[in-house]
Amino acid sequence: MREINLIVVHCSATPNGRWVSTLDIDQWHAARGFKRQGVWRARQNAQLGSIGYHFVVYTNGAIATGRHLAEVGAHVYGNNRNSIGICVAGTDQFTRAQWSSLAALVDRLRKEFPDARVTGHRDLSPDKDNDGLVEPWEWLKTCPGFSVAAWLRTDMLPRPGHILEEPA
Ligand SMILES: [Zn+2]
Repeated sequence: MREINLIVVHCSATPNGRWVSTLDIDQWHAARGFKRQGVWRARQNAQLGSIGYHFVVYTNGAIATGRHLAEVGAHVYGNNRNSIGICVAGTDQFTRAQWSSLAALVDRLRKEFPDARVTGHRDLSPDKDNDGLVEPWEWLKTCPGFSVAAWLRTDMLPRPGHILEEPA
């Protein structure tokens, strides 16, 4: 196993609530030139030749695997070597099933990697004014569409304003 010190939450930047699978993401990442090594494909998800994330949280709450946990991902510039990448399908609103699965997954990974910091992709943007905070004007992207820090502070409950209510 490689050393893990960072868990990064992403979103797929697709319409909220729209079904997205690891096969879809694999195609997008193939188009961007991402490539998994054969040894890792042989160990896990051989059908996925490119996907950069380790996990994807589907709109129905299912958690799908992408890259092997011991395999370096391709999801965050400059921080791939020691991190795990989780992608939640959507842009900034997620189903209650997604919120609950994301919480369970992060909980499990934190137990397995107690030294890992959990953060959102946007929080890894460069701190341009060097004040120690990555502020909204400094975000390269808005991914994952909510504040991971606030989510962690509030016991990983669904974030107000970011819950996709499904039709009854
Ligand atoms: Zn991202």
